[in-house]
Amino acid sequence: MAYSEEKLSEEKVFKDPVHRYIHVRDRVIWDLIGTKEFQRLRRIKQLGTTYLTFHGAEHSRFNHSLGVYEIVRRIADDVFIGRPEWNEEERLLSLCAALLHDLGHGPFSHSFEKVFDLDHEHFTRAIILGATEVNKVLTRVCDGFPEKVAEVIAKTSQNKLVVSLISSQIDADRMDYLQRDAYFTGVSYGHFDMERILRVMRPREDQVVIKQSGMHAVEDYIMSRYQMYWQVYFHPVTRSAEVILTKILHRAKELHKQNYTFKYDPIHFYSLFSGKITLEDYIKLDEAIILYYFQMWQEEEDPVLSDLCCRFMDRNLYKYVEFDPAGEYKKLAELSALFKKAGIDPEYYLVVDSSSDLPYDFYRPGEEEERLPIHLLLKNGDIRELSRESEIVDAISGKRRTDHKLYFPDDFLSDDSKKPNIKKQIRTLLEID
Ligand code: ZN
Repeated sequence: MAYSEEKLSEEKVFKDPVHRYIHVRDRVIWDLIGTKEFQRLRRIKQLGTTYLTFHGAEHSRFNHSLGVYEIVRRIADDVFIGRPEWNEEERLLSLCAALLHDLGHGPFSHSFEKVFDLDHEHFTRAIILGATEVNKVLTRVCDGFPEKVAEVIAKTSQNKLVVSLISSQIDADRMDYLQRDAYFTGVSYGHFDMERILRVMRPREDQVVIKQSGMHAVEDYIMSRYQMYWQVYFHPVTRSAEVILTKILHRAKELHKQNYTFKYDPIHFYSLFSGKITLEDYIKLDEAIILYYFQMWQEEEDPVLSDLCCRFMDRNLYKYVEFDPAGEYKKLAELSALFKKAGIDPEYYLVVDSSSDLPYDFYRPGEEEERLPIHLLLKNGDIRELSRESEIVDAISGKRRTDHKLYFPDDFLSDDSKKPNIKKQIRTLLEID
Protein backbone atom coordinates (compact mmCIF):
# COMPACT_ATOMS: atom_id res chain seq x y z
CA MET A 1 0.00 0.00 0.00
CA ALA A 2 1.19 3.51 -0.79
CA TYR A 3 2.57 5.34 2.25
CA SER A 4 0.03 8.16 1.69
CA GLU A 5 -2.85 5.71 2.19
CA GLU A 6 -1.39 3.70 5.05
CA LYS A 7 -3.58 3.56 8.17
CA LEU A 8 -2.50 2.70 11.70
CA SER A 9 -3.65 -0.75 12.83
CA GLU A 10 -5.47 0.99 15.67
CA GLU A 11 -6.63 4.58 15.78
CA LYS A 12 -4.61 6.78 18.17
CA VAL A 13 -6.40 9.38 20.27
CA PHE A 14 -5.10 12.39 22.16
CA LYS A 15 -7.27 13.62 25.01
CA ASP A 16 -7.93 17.31 24.40
CA PRO A 17 -9.73 19.81 26.64
CA VAL A 18 -11.23 21.70 23.69
CA HIS A 19 -12.18 19.00 21.17
CA ARG A 20 -12.42 16.17 23.74
CA TYR A 21 -10.43 13.81 21.48
CA ILE A 22 -8.03 14.23 18.59
CA HIS A 23 -8.14 11.25 16.26
CA VAL A 24 -5.21 9.99 14.21
CA ARG A 25 -5.58 7.13 11.74
CA ASP A 26 -3.14 8.16 9.01
CA ARG A 27 0.42 6.85 9.28
CA VAL A 28 1.77 10.08 7.73
CA ILE A 29 0.15 12.26 10.42
CA TRP A 30 1.36 9.96 13.20
CA ASP A 31 4.90 10.07 11.82
CA LEU A 32 4.83 13.88 11.52
CA ILE A 33 3.72 14.26 15.14
CA GLY A 34 6.71 12.13 16.17
CA THR A 35 9.32 14.29 14.45
CA LYS A 36 11.64 16.35 16.61
CA GLU A 37 10.66 19.58 14.86
CA PHE A 38 7.00 19.02 15.74
CA GLN A 39 7.77 17.89 19.30
CA ARG A 40 9.69 21.14 19.77
CA LEU A 41 6.33 22.98 19.69
CA ARG A 42 5.58 21.50 23.12
CA ARG A 43 8.25 23.86 24.48
CA ILE A 44 6.80 27.02 22.96
CA LYS A 45 3.77 28.64 24.56
CA GLN A 46 0.87 29.52 22.30
CA LEU A 47 0.31 32.91 23.94
CA GLY A 48 3.86 34.03 24.77
CA THR A 49 3.84 36.29 27.83
CA THR A 50 0.04 36.11 28.38
CA TYR A 51 0.59 33.71 31.31
CA LEU A 52 1.82 36.72 33.30
CA THR A 53 -1.70 38.17 33.02
CA PHE A 54 -3.88 35.03 32.83
CA HIS A 55 -2.00 32.40 34.81
CA GLY A 56 -3.75 29.50 33.07
CA ALA A 57 -2.41 30.44 29.64
CA GLU A 58 0.51 27.99 29.68
CA HIS A 59 -0.70 25.90 26.72
CA SER A 60 1.73 25.21 23.90
CA ARG A 61 1.76 25.51 20.15
CA PHE A 62 1.77 21.71 20.11
CA ASN A 63 -1.76 21.69 21.62
CA HIS A 64 -3.01 24.26 19.13
CA SER A 65 -1.46 22.55 16.10
CA LEU A 66 -3.14 19.26 16.98
CA GLY A 67 -6.41 21.17 17.44
CA VAL A 68 -6.23 22.78 13.99
CA TYR A 69 -5.46 19.37 12.49
CA GLU A 70 -8.52 17.86 14.24
CA ILE A 71 -10.88 20.57 12.94
CA VAL A 72 -9.67 20.09 9.36
CA ARG A 73 -9.92 16.31 9.76
CA ARG A 74 -13.52 16.64 10.87
CA ILE A 75 -14.36 18.96 7.98
CA ALA A 76 -12.79 16.51 5.51
CA ASP A 77 -14.09 13.26 7.03
CA ASP A 78 -17.52 14.30 8.34
CA VAL A 79 -18.66 17.28 6.25
CA PHE A 80 -16.97 17.36 2.83
CA ILE A 81 -16.64 13.63 2.20
CA GLY A 82 -18.58 12.44 -0.84
CA ARG A 83 -19.40 15.95 -2.08
CA PRO A 84 -18.65 16.46 -5.78
CA GLU A 85 -16.72 19.71 -5.17
CA TRP A 86 -14.34 17.95 -2.76
CA ASN A 87 -11.42 16.04 -4.16
CA GLU A 88 -10.57 13.23 -1.75
CA GLU A 89 -6.94 13.42 -2.89
CA GLU A 90 -6.65 16.80 -1.18
CA ARG A 91 -7.47 15.34 2.21
CA LEU A 92 -3.91 14.43 3.18
CA LEU A 93 -2.52 17.75 1.88
CA SER A 94 -5.09 19.63 4.00
CA LEU A 95 -4.30 17.59 7.12
CA CYS A 96 -0.54 18.03 6.80
CA ALA A 97 -0.83 21.79 6.18
CA ALA A 98 -3.15 22.14 9.19
CA LEU A 99 -0.81 20.21 11.47
CA LEU A 100 2.33 22.04 10.34
CA HIS A 101 1.04 25.59 9.80
CA ASP A 102 2.80 27.03 12.92
CA LEU A 103 5.92 24.86 12.75
CA GLY A 104 8.33 27.79 12.35
CA HIS A 105 7.27 29.69 15.47
CA GLY A 106 10.12 30.33 17.86
CA PRO A 107 10.12 31.15 21.59
CA PHE A 108 8.23 34.40 22.31
CA SER A 109 8.05 34.90 18.54
CA HIS A 110 6.60 38.37 18.64
CA SER A 111 9.56 39.99 20.43
CA PHE A 112 12.22 37.84 18.77
CA GLU A 113 10.94 38.64 15.29
CA LYS A 114 10.98 42.35 16.06
CA VAL A 115 14.45 42.53 17.59
CA PHE A 116 16.27 40.03 15.38
CA ASP A 117 14.33 40.65 12.19
CA LEU A 118 13.09 37.07 11.88
CA ASP A 119 9.96 35.73 10.22
CA HIS A 120 8.31 32.55 11.50
CA GLU A 121 6.72 31.91 8.11
CA HIS A 122 10.17 31.76 6.58
CA PHE A 123 11.19 29.14 9.15
CA THR A 124 7.99 27.10 8.68
CA ARG A 125 8.91 26.85 5.02
CA ALA A 126 12.56 26.14 5.78
CA ILE A 127 11.69 23.28 8.17
CA ILE A 128 9.27 21.72 5.66
CA LEU A 129 11.72 21.97 2.76
CA GLY A 130 15.08 21.61 4.57
CA ALA A 131 17.11 18.67 5.85
CA THR A 132 14.67 17.79 8.65
CA GLU A 133 12.69 14.82 9.92
CA VAL A 134 9.47 16.54 8.82
CA ASN A 135 10.81 16.82 5.27
CA LYS A 136 11.74 13.11 5.24
CA VAL A 137 8.19 12.10 6.18
CA LEU A 138 6.57 14.41 3.62
CA THR A 139 8.94 13.31 0.85
CA ARG A 140 7.94 9.69 1.47
CA VAL A 141 4.37 10.63 0.45
CA CYS A 142 5.60 11.64 -2.99
CA ASP A 143 8.11 13.85 -4.74
CA GLY A 144 7.09 17.48 -4.53
CA PHE A 145 4.74 16.91 -1.60
CA PRO A 146 6.75 19.06 0.88
CA GLU A 147 6.57 21.93 -1.64
CA LYS A 148 2.79 21.50 -1.95
CA VAL A 149 2.33 21.64 1.83
CA ALA A 150 4.57 24.71 2.09
CA GLU A 151 2.60 26.48 -0.65
CA VAL A 152 -0.74 25.90 1.11
CA ILE A 153 0.69 27.35 4.34
CA ALA A 154 2.21 30.31 2.47
CA LYS A 155 -1.15 30.87 0.71
CA THR A 156 0.58 30.71 -2.69
CA SER A 157 -0.96 27.36 -3.65
CA GLN A 158 -3.23 27.18 -6.68
CA ASN A 159 -5.51 25.07 -4.51
CA LYS A 160 -7.59 27.92 -3.08
CA LEU A 161 -10.11 25.66 -1.37
CA VAL A 162 -7.44 24.00 0.77
CA VAL A 163 -5.81 27.38 1.49
CA SER A 164 -9.14 28.76 2.73
CA LEU A 165 -9.51 25.85 5.18
CA ILE A 166 -6.23 26.83 6.86
CA SER A 167 -6.17 30.60 6.39
CA SER A 168 -9.15 32.81 5.75
CA GLN A 169 -11.34 34.88 8.04
CA ILE A 170 -13.13 31.73 9.16
CA ASP A 171 -10.54 28.98 9.14
CA ALA A 172 -9.56 26.05 11.31
CA ASP A 173 -6.62 28.03 12.75
CA ARG A 174 -8.82 30.80 14.19
CA MET A 175 -11.57 28.43 15.27
CA ASP A 176 -9.08 26.45 17.31
CA TYR A 177 -7.11 29.29 18.90
CA LEU A 178 -10.17 31.30 19.94
CA GLN A 179 -11.67 28.38 21.84
CA ARG A 180 -8.37 27.09 23.18
CA ASP A 181 -7.15 30.49 24.37
CA ALA A 182 -10.56 31.15 25.98
CA TYR A 183 -10.37 27.78 27.76
CA PHE A 184 -6.84 28.24 29.10
CA THR A 185 -7.18 31.90 30.08
CA GLY A 186 -10.52 31.14 31.72
CA VAL A 187 -12.30 34.14 30.18
CA SER A 188 -15.94 33.84 29.19
CA TYR A 189 -15.40 35.31 25.70
CA GLY A 190 -14.16 33.25 22.79
CA HIS A 191 -16.93 30.69 22.84
CA PHE A 192 -19.11 30.12 19.79
CA ASP A 193 -20.98 27.23 18.23
CA MET A 194 -18.27 25.51 16.20
CA GLU A 195 -20.34 22.36 15.75
CA ARG A 196 -22.96 24.43 13.97
CA ILE A 197 -20.36 26.19 11.78
CA LEU A 198 -18.72 22.91 10.75
CA ARG A 199 -22.11 21.48 9.81
CA VAL A 200 -22.92 24.36 7.45
CA MET A 201 -19.52 24.58 5.72
CA ARG A 202 -19.56 23.65 2.03
CA PRO A 203 -16.68 23.21 -0.41
CA ARG A 204 -16.63 25.34 -3.55
CA GLU A 205 -14.01 25.34 -6.27
CA ASP A 206 -11.97 28.16 -4.78
CA GLN A 207 -13.12 28.50 -1.16
CA VAL A 208 -15.14 27.22 1.76
CA VAL A 209 -18.59 28.85 1.93
CA ILE A 210 -21.17 28.87 4.73
CA LYS A 211 -24.83 27.97 4.22
CA GLN A 212 -27.02 31.00 4.91
CA SER A 213 -28.74 29.19 7.77
CA GLY A 214 -25.42 29.32 9.68
CA MET A 215 -25.06 33.09 9.49
CA HIS A 216 -25.85 33.76 13.16
CA ALA A 217 -23.29 31.23 14.34
CA VAL A 218 -20.72 33.04 12.17
CA GLU A 219 -21.75 36.43 13.62
CA ASP A 220 -21.19 35.02 17.06
CA TYR A 221 -17.74 33.74 16.03
CA ILE A 222 -16.73 37.17 14.68
CA MET A 223 -17.88 38.90 17.87
CA SER A 224 -16.02 36.41 20.02
CA ARG A 225 -12.87 37.03 18.03
CA TYR A 226 -13.31 40.77 18.52
CA GLN A 227 -13.71 40.30 22.29
CA MET A 228 -10.70 37.99 22.56
CA TYR A 229 -8.46 40.49 20.81
CA TRP A 230 -9.23 43.31 23.20
CA GLN A 231 -9.74 41.31 26.38
CA VAL A 232 -6.90 38.80 26.00
CA TYR A 233 -4.48 39.25 23.09
CA PHE A 234 -4.00 43.02 23.50
CA HIS A 235 -4.31 43.06 27.27
CA PRO A 236 -2.16 45.99 28.50
CA VAL A 237 -0.46 43.90 31.21
CA THR A 238 0.60 41.26 28.67
CA ARG A 239 1.94 44.03 26.48
CA SER A 240 3.90 45.39 29.44
CA ALA A 241 5.62 42.01 29.81
CA GLU A 242 6.21 41.97 26.05
CA VAL A 243 7.77 45.45 26.21
CA ILE A 244 10.22 44.31 28.91
CA LEU A 245 11.04 41.11 27.03
CA THR A 246 11.75 43.10 23.88
CA LYS A 247 13.99 45.47 25.81
CA ILE A 248 15.95 42.56 27.34
CA LEU A 249 16.70 41.30 23.83
CA HIS A 250 17.62 44.80 22.66
CA ARG A 251 19.95 45.28 25.59
CA ALA A 252 21.68 41.92 25.11
CA LYS A 253 22.15 42.67 21.41
CA GLU A 254 23.50 46.14 22.18
CA LEU A 255 25.92 44.84 24.84
CA HIS A 256 27.21 42.21 22.44
CA LYS A 257 27.83 44.96 19.87
CA GLN A 258 29.83 46.91 22.46
CA ASN A 259 31.96 43.80 23.17
CA TYR A 260 30.64 43.57 26.71
CA THR A 261 31.82 40.42 28.51
CA PHE A 262 28.78 38.49 29.70
CA LYS A 263 29.17 36.52 32.93
CA TYR A 264 26.95 33.90 31.29
CA ASP A 265 28.05 33.66 27.72
CA PRO A 266 24.94 33.70 25.50
CA ILE A 267 26.10 31.07 23.01
CA HIS A 268 22.55 30.39 21.85
CA PHE A 269 22.21 34.05 20.85
CA TYR A 270 25.40 34.41 18.80
CA SER A 271 23.87 33.64 15.44
CA LEU A 272 20.83 35.80 16.30
CA PHE A 273 23.14 38.72 17.14
CA SER A 274 25.02 38.30 13.87
CA GLY A 275 21.75 38.19 11.88
CA LYS A 276 22.80 34.92 10.23
CA ILE A 277 20.88 32.27 12.10
CA THR A 278 20.94 28.80 10.56
CA LEU A 279 17.98 26.45 10.53
CA GLU A 280 19.86 24.09 12.82
CA ASP A 281 20.42 26.80 15.44
CA TYR A 282 16.85 28.05 15.12
CA ILE A 283 15.34 24.64 15.82
CA LYS A 284 17.40 24.42 19.01
CA LEU A 285 15.74 27.54 20.46
CA ASP A 286 12.85 27.10 22.85
CA GLU A 287 11.46 28.91 25.86
CA ALA A 288 13.37 26.81 28.37
CA ILE A 289 16.66 28.03 26.90
CA ILE A 290 15.58 31.66 26.75
CA LEU A 291 14.29 31.66 30.33
CA TYR A 292 17.56 30.08 31.46
CA TYR A 293 19.44 33.15 30.16
CA PHE A 294 16.95 35.56 31.70
CA GLN A 295 17.39 33.76 35.00
CA MET A 296 21.20 33.96 34.81
CA TRP A 297 21.35 37.52 33.45
CA GLN A 298 19.72 38.79 36.64
CA GLU A 299 23.26 38.63 38.03
CA GLU A 300 24.97 40.49 35.17
CA GLU A 301 27.14 43.55 35.88
CA ASP A 302 25.19 45.65 33.41
CA PRO A 303 22.51 47.32 35.55
CA VAL A 304 19.95 47.64 32.74
CA LEU A 305 20.13 44.01 31.60
CA SER A 306 20.08 42.77 35.16
CA ASP A 307 17.15 45.01 36.16
CA LEU A 308 15.06 44.08 33.10
CA CYS A 309 15.62 40.36 33.69
CA CYS A 310 14.66 40.67 37.37
CA ARG A 311 11.50 42.48 36.33
CA PHE A 312 10.56 39.78 33.86
CA MET A 313 11.30 36.85 36.18
CA ASP A 314 9.57 38.40 39.21
CA ARG A 315 6.74 39.93 37.19
CA ASN A 316 7.56 43.44 38.31
CA LEU A 317 6.09 44.96 35.17
CA TYR A 318 5.85 48.51 33.83
CA LYS A 319 2.81 50.65 34.53
CA TYR A 320 1.05 52.42 31.68
CA VAL A 321 -1.04 55.44 30.75
CA GLU A 322 -3.14 56.12 27.65
CA PHE A 323 -1.12 57.86 24.98
CA ASP A 324 -1.84 59.60 21.70
CA PRO A 325 1.31 59.50 19.55
CA ALA A 326 -0.01 62.05 17.07
CA GLY A 327 -1.13 64.67 19.62
CA GLU A 328 1.38 64.09 22.42
CA TYR A 329 4.75 63.77 20.68
CA LYS A 330 5.97 66.97 22.39
CA LYS A 331 5.07 65.55 25.78
CA LEU A 332 7.00 62.39 24.90
CA ALA A 333 10.12 64.43 24.02
CA GLU A 334 9.77 66.36 27.27
CA LEU A 335 9.39 63.16 29.28
CA SER A 336 12.36 61.62 27.54
CA ALA A 337 14.56 64.61 28.48
CA LEU A 338 13.37 64.43 32.10
CA PHE A 339 14.05 60.69 32.25
CA LYS A 340 17.64 61.35 31.16
CA LYS A 341 18.02 64.03 33.81
CA ALA A 342 16.71 61.63 36.42
CA GLY A 343 19.29 59.05 35.31
CA ILE A 344 16.73 56.63 33.84
CA ASP A 345 17.51 55.64 30.25
CA PRO A 346 14.34 56.41 28.20
CA GLU A 347 15.51 53.99 25.50
CA TYR A 348 14.69 51.13 27.89
CA TYR A 349 12.30 52.66 30.38
CA LEU A 350 9.89 54.84 28.40
CA VAL A 351 8.12 52.89 25.68
CA VAL A 352 5.12 53.56 23.43
CA ASP A 353 3.31 50.38 22.42
CA SER A 354 0.46 50.17 19.92
CA SER A 355 -2.04 47.41 19.15
CA SER A 356 -4.47 47.35 16.30
CA ASP A 357 -7.01 44.96 14.84
CA LEU A 358 -9.58 44.73 12.10
CA PRO A 359 -12.42 42.47 13.34
CA TYR A 360 -13.67 41.58 9.85
CA ASP A 361 -13.10 42.89 6.38
CA PHE A 362 -14.49 42.34 2.94
CA TYR A 363 -12.12 41.88 0.03
CA ARG A 364 -9.94 44.86 -0.83
CA PRO A 365 -7.61 43.89 -3.63
CA GLY A 366 -4.12 45.30 -3.47
CA GLU A 367 -4.19 46.01 0.28
CA GLU A 368 -1.06 45.08 2.22
CA GLU A 369 -2.77 42.08 3.73
CA GLU A 370 -5.50 40.78 1.45
CA ARG A 371 -8.07 38.99 3.52
CA LEU A 372 -10.35 36.34 2.12
CA PRO A 373 -13.88 37.40 3.07
CA ILE A 374 -16.53 35.00 4.34
CA HIS A 375 -19.10 34.02 1.72
CA LEU A 376 -22.61 32.80 2.38
CA LEU A 377 -24.30 30.24 0.19
CA LEU A 378 -27.89 31.41 -0.38
CA LYS A 379 -30.81 29.03 -0.81
CA ASN A 380 -30.97 29.75 -4.56
CA GLY A 381 -27.30 28.76 -4.92
CA ASP A 382 -25.94 32.32 -5.17
CA ILE A 383 -22.90 33.36 -3.17
CA ARG A 384 -22.88 36.60 -1.14
CA GLU A 385 -20.24 38.28 0.95
CA LEU A 386 -21.19 38.13 4.66
CA SER A 387 -21.33 41.88 5.50
CA ARG A 388 -23.94 42.40 2.76
CA GLU A 389 -26.31 40.02 4.56
CA SER A 390 -25.46 40.59 8.22
CA GLU A 391 -26.13 43.98 9.79
CA ILE A 392 -23.95 43.22 12.79
CA VAL A 393 -20.96 42.29 10.65
CA ASP A 394 -21.61 45.27 8.37
CA ALA A 395 -21.39 47.58 11.41
CA ILE A 396 -17.83 46.49 12.26
CA SER A 397 -16.55 45.70 8.75
CA GLY A 398 -13.33 47.38 7.75
CA LYS A 399 -13.18 49.35 11.02
CA ARG A 400 -9.71 49.24 12.45
CA ARG A 401 -9.38 49.87 16.16
CA THR A 402 -6.02 51.02 17.49
CA ASP A 403 -4.84 51.52 21.02
CA HIS A 404 -1.63 53.24 22.17
CA LYS A 405 -0.13 53.12 25.61
CA LEU A 406 2.96 54.57 27.23
CA TYR A 407 4.89 52.18 29.51
CA PHE A 408 7.32 53.07 32.31
CA PRO A 409 8.63 51.64 35.64
CA ASP A 410 6.47 53.19 38.32
CA ASP A 411 8.82 52.04 41.11
CA PHE A 412 11.76 54.05 39.68
CA LEU A 413 9.64 57.17 39.51
CA SER A 414 8.33 56.91 43.04
CA ASP A 415 11.80 56.34 44.54
CA ASP A 416 12.59 59.83 45.85
CA SER A 417 16.04 59.02 47.22
CA LYS A 418 17.62 60.56 44.08
CA LYS A 419 16.47 63.57 42.01
CA PRO A 420 13.11 63.90 43.76
CA ASN A 421 12.20 67.16 42.00
CA ILE A 422 12.70 65.82 38.50
CA LYS A 423 10.75 62.68 39.37
CA LYS A 424 7.95 64.80 40.69
CA GLN A 425 7.87 66.68 37.37
CA ILE A 426 7.70 63.36 35.51
CA ARG A 427 4.89 62.09 37.69
CA THR A 428 2.94 65.30 37.12
CA LEU A 429 3.39 65.06 33.35
CA LEU A 430 2.29 61.42 33.36
CA GLU A 431 -0.61 62.37 35.64
CA ILE A 432 0.16 59.52 38.03
CA ASP A 433 0.62 61.55 41.21
ZN1 ZN B 1 -2.13 28.72 14.32
